[in-house]
Amino acid sequence: MNIKKGDTVKILTGKDRGKSGKVVNADSKTSKVSLEGLNLYKKHVKPKKQGQKGEIISIARPMDISNVAIVCPSCNKQTRIGFRMDVDKKVRYCAKCKGAI
Ligand SMILES: [Zn+2]
Repeated sequence: MNIKKGDTVKILTGKDRGKSGKVVNADSKTSKVSLEGLNLYKKHVKPKKQGQKGEIISIARPMDISNVAIVCPSCNKQTRIGFRMDVDKKVRYCAKCKGAI
């Protein structure tokens, strides 16, 4: 999976299309990412104890990584990721400006 936690990505589909946000969770098993404050849905939480109020909370719904594109921190453009070997580790780089991501 090319996208990691902490990356900035742009949403390509759905109601939040065109918006960008930070990846707060990346699940390589399901190939889904959750973005900070985006693609939210509201969930009703039932009161756990009597006398307590129920709540509505917003939860980031994980999105398939095919629906997002990474935004390069160097050139600030939506881009594709390339990989190169740097000494002994694999480095991700921007296909547009060749800067490391
Ligand atoms: Zn770039």
